[in-house]
Amino acid sequence: MEQTAVIKTANTAKTAGAPGAVKAAGPAKADRRKKSADIACLLFDMLVLALVVWIALPALDEYTAAGIITPGKVSDAERTLESGGEGDEDSIFNHITIESEQQAAILEALRRRWPERKAPWDNGYQGLCETWVCDVYASAGIPVSGSCCASESRDKYAVWSEEIPVGAMIYSGPEYLSGYLCEDCGKDPGHVAIYIGDGKVAGSQSQYIMTLEEFKEYFGYGGWSFGGS
Ligand SMILES: [Zn+2]
Repeated sequence: MEQTAVIKTANTAKTAGAPGAVKAAGPAKADRRKKSADIACLLFDMLVLALVVWIALPALDEYTAAGIITPGKVSDAERTLESGGEGDEDSIFNHITIESEQQAAILEALRRRWPERKAPWDNGYQGLCETWVCDVYASAGIPVSGSCCASESRDKYAVWSEEIPVGAMIYSGPEYLSGYLCEDCGKDPGHVAIYIGDGKVAGSQSQYIMTLEEFKEYFGYGGWSFGGS
């Protein structure tokens, strides 16, 4: 309906502007010429309208699907900005062999939200090792079995094997003391970080990326779990 209305208006406007020209031209020949010109104009208008609809509709769908124009929905681009940039393209998190979607999701969350230059220790996670680990898992969409502190999680969930899967939470050994006491379980809360593969550990410790040897030397080794924190 709207299309017809638009075309009619355009046509009327043309006719209204024409009388002077028609009078000057005189005979029926000019009328015929005018009529065919009108039809050509009409066809052209319809073609342009069809073209606009054909181009605009899929583009609109695409934007809606991407969440760009849906009110209240944060687009991926905005989320990236919120979290402080795209991450480093040439990141260590890109060069690790993984075996599962979950591992890929953890590394991608690290690359995008916590690239090497954005150490969690310097960005709000000082003393919040377990919170950071849980936030990384949450960003990767992986459920976490919660507990009061890293030491309690270790005692509940840790697997004590030397083979650590990429993306696993890695715990400090019982001998490591952070100097605090957990209000819930009364234990020293210890430390937890994430094994990112290739002999490296990422965590909200003062040195963001440590080698596994450095981690074990400093925090001891209390085993690992996949999502038990
Ligand atoms: Zn505790």
